[in-house]
Amino acid sequence: MSGFYTRFAANVLFPLRERLKGRETVRIRREMEARQWWSRENLLAFQSERLRAFLRDVGAHVPYYRNLFAQTEFVPEEVTSLSGLQRLPFLDAAILRANVDCLRIEGQAHLARFESGAANGEPLLLYVGPVRTSHDIAARWRTLRWWDVDIGDPGIVVWGPPIDADTRELLGISCARSIRSARVLAFEMPDTEAERFIARLRKRRPKTLTGNPSTLAYLAAFAQARDIALNDLGIQTIFAAGERLWASQRELIASSYGCPLVYLYGNRGSGLVASQCPMGGLHIAAENVVVEIVDEDGEALPSGKAGEIILTNTASRDFPFIRYRTGDIGALDWDSCPCGRGLPLLKLAEFGAR
Ligand SMILES: [Zn+2]
Repeated sequence: MSGFYTRFAANVLFPLRERLKGRETVRIRREMEARQWWSRENLLAFQSERLRAFLRDVGAHVPYYRNLFAQTEFVPEEVTSLSGLQRLPFLDAAILRANVDCLRIEGQAHLARFESGAANGEPLLLYVGPVRTSHDIAARWRTLRWWDVDIGDPGIVVWGPPIDADTRELLGISCARSIRSARVLAFEMPDTEAERFIARLRKRRPKTLTGNPSTLAYLAAFAQARDIALNDLGIQTIFAAGERLWASQRELIASSYGCPLVYLYGNRGSGLVASQCPMGGLHIAAENVVVEIVDEDGEALPSGKAGEIILTNTASRDFPFIRYRTGDIGALDWDSCPCGRGLPLLKLAEFGAR
């Protein structure tokens, strides 16, 4: 049962803030909550429809793709299923870097520019617009509510490396002061800081703790080594994001904090891709993201076969990510989840669940 403040924040304050920012996050979240129960067949039809409209828009308004479609004689109208994407080349960090300006939509001034720390250490310049942000926040909000958490519930965020603006937005931190959703601590975590942080958790008793797996695991190991209990802090759910979650980290974190650990998989460019439901399924936010799995030759793999995860975000044409190579390994899983949601499932290597 949510407290008064949480209901006020979720139903009044946060919707007002989103409206003032010109974002339709509340409507999108409501639609996504209805759609999650659709049959797999209806969701696939919806995804294909959205993909076709997205590609049509991108081909008309984004110079890089207008040229690419012309060169390859790619006709968006001919895309009748998700496999239609396979006729387009992959996108990777090198292509992004070389074409950053012509990957932006023409005539859209309200794009936020941010640098993403690419895996190889070279920063990547990206743009994100309000439509993409609303869809990402809505997807994250839907996940929170699977776990009986809402915007406005007291939470603390702990993040090892400096946290960038896009991640702050995705984690709902930017509204921290007014909406009480989170307080940020981003630091190197020397022992004194870790001790102080645990004392702060004990005092504030947040309902949720959100962090990157390595920082959450560091704190758990730190506490275990000093016989400090973390399972009496009143934390009801832990959300982990931003890095791969290793099975060993999952075990350490879950056993130390004594509450469910929910993994959110995504990356800066593609947004929130998949998140875990209370039955353990890692559900793809299929309304926003199309996930493909390919082998070493770039050929599509069927359900159950592990390969590289390729992402296409269809939520916004502002700075499109089409067939982005993540370098992450996973498999699609067309089985149904016991929770009853039709959203397809993703299996990650070393995910350590199910
Ligand atoms: Zn499920």
